[in-house]
Amino acid sequence: MLEYDRISELVPTGVWIDGAAAAAASEATFPVRNPATGEVLTEVADASGADALRALDSACRAQTAWAATAPRERAVILRRAWEILMERTEEIALLMTLEMGKTLAEARGEVAYGGEFLRWFSEEAVRIGGRYTDSPAGTGRILVTRQPVGPCLAITPWNFPLAMGSRKIGPALAAGCTVIVKPAEDTPLTMLALARVFADAGLPAGVLSIVPGSDAAAITAPLLADPRLRKVTFTGSTRVGKLLLRQAADNVLRTSMELGGNAPFIVFEDADLDAALAGAMAAKMRNGGEACTAANRIYVHNSIREQFASRLAEQIGALRVGPGYEPGVDTGPLINQRQRDSVAALVQDAVAAGAVIRTGGKAIDGPGWFFQPTVLDDVPRTARMHREEIFGPVAAIYGFDTEDEVVAAANDTEYGLAAYFYTRDLDRVLRVSNALQAGMVGVNRGVISDPAAPFGGIKQSGLGTEGGSEGIDEYLDTKYVALTR
Ligand code: ADP
Repeated sequence: MLEYDRISELVPTGVWIDGAAAAAASEATFPVRNPATGEVLTEVADASGADALRALDSACRAQTAWAATAPRERAVILRRAWEILMERTEEIALLMTLEMGKTLAEARGEVAYGGEFLRWFSEEAVRIGGRYTDSPAGTGRILVTRQPVGPCLAITPWNFPLAMGSRKIGPALAAGCTVIVKPAEDTPLTMLALARVFADAGLPAGVLSIVPGSDAAAITAPLLADPRLRKVTFTGSTRVGKLLLRQAADNVLRTSMELGGNAPFIVFEDADLDAALAGAMAAKMRNGGEACTAANRIYVHNSIREQFASRLAEQIGALRVGPGYEPGVDTGPLINQRQRDSVAALVQDAVAAGAVIRTGGKAIDGPGWFFQPTVLDDVPRTARMHREEIFGPVAAIYGFDTEDEVVAAANDTEYGLAAYFYTRDLDRVLRVSNALQAGMVGVNRGVISDPAAPFGGIKQSGLGTEGGSEGIDEYLDTKYVALTR
C-alpha cells in the first residue's frame, strides 16, 4: 500500500541477527496486516527455534565486550539512538499506525514516550552504583557491586509496539546486557525499525537481535531451555506470563513480568466532575482502550452517576472512528478479529446481565476491525467485564454508595496494576491511595505512565518494575565481595 511504500526502506523485514537482516533458516515468511483494512502491508521472516538460537549465539559472542564497554559509551549509543528515533518520528509513527491501528497523533505520542526510555536510561547507565562498608565486627570489609545479568529475552505485545520494547531494551543495554526481542506477531515492524535505529546509532552487532515469527512458543521455548540465557522480561497476558514463569523456573532465570490489569477508576461525590470526565476519557480511550492500564471498571458515586454517564456518553459517542492515518480520526480499529470478537462478547454478556447501553455497543461492518466507542451504565458486578480485561473502546460504569464499599469492590480482583480515583478531600487521597491494591495509583489524573517513574503491578499483574531509577535493577545482579581488613 502507498503509505507503507513511503517508509519501507526504514524497516528491515528479516530476522535481525549480528546487526543485519537475514532470511529465516526455513526461508518462511508471514504477513503483517493493516487492521484498518485487512490488507497485507508486507511479509516478514518467520523465525523458528533455530533462528532464535542463532540470535542467542550472537548475543553470547557480544555479551562480554558489551558488559566491559564503558558506561559512558553505552550511554552515548543510547542517547544517539534516541536522537535518531526522534528524527524519524513521522516515519515510525506512520509505521505504528499502519501495523497496529492507533491514530497518528497517538503514534507520535508513543514515539516520544517510547523514545524517552532510551534517553532516560542513557542517563542512568553512568549511575550504576555499589557500596562499601566495614563489617560491624571490624574484621572485614564489605564491597557490593552490580553486574549485568547477561543475555536477556524480551517478549513484547502489540498494543504499544515501540514503547513496550524500548522500555526493556533501554535499561538492559544501559546495564550492559545483550537483548533478543520477540515482538508480537501482529506488530513486528516497529521493533525491526528500531533495530535499524540502533545500528545507525553505532550499537555493536549482536547486542540487540529481533526474532519476529508467527509461532511465539517455537521461538521462545528453545531460548528459555538454553542455560546461556539469563533473563526473560515479558509484557502481555497473565496467562502467557504464567507459562513463561513455569519455563523460567527450570533454569532459575531472572524474570520481569508486566501482565494484565483490571484498573478501577473511582469518581467520588466530591470530585471535580469536568476533570474526572477528562481523566476518564484519557484512561479509557487512550490507545482505543487497548492498554493494560485502561480504566476497566468506572465506579461513580450514585449521587452523580446519571450526570457523569450522560456526559461521558456524549463525549465518547462523538468520537470519529476510522483508519488512524486519516485526518480527523479519534479512534482506530482494534488489532484483529479475535480481539474485536472478544470485546463484542463482553458487551453482549454485560447487556444480557442488565447493563444499559448509553452509546455504541456494536462492531462496525465493512473492512477492518472497528468497534463503536461504547458506554455501558449500571453494569451489574456479576458481568464478566467486571473481572476480565475489556481491551477495547468500552466504558463500563458501576454505581456505588460508600468509600468502604467501593474500595472493597476495586480490590476484589486478582489483578493489581493501575488504579485511579478523583476526590478533593486530602484525607481521602491518603486513605484510598494506601488502601488500593495496585502497583500504580493515579490521583485526579487519568494518565500515569512516566519513564521516570517505576511502572509495574502487584498480585497477578506482575513482578518487577520498568522505568524510573528502579528499572535498571531488573538487569543487574548484586555481587558481594568479602575482604579482610
Ligand atoms: P495479548 O493477549 O495481548 O495478545 P499475549 O500474552 O498473547 O498477549 O502476547 C504477548 C506476547 O507474548 C506476544 O509477543 C506473543 O507472541 C507472545 N506469546 C504468546 N503466547 C506465547 C507462548 N506460549 N510463549 C511465548 N510467548 C508467547
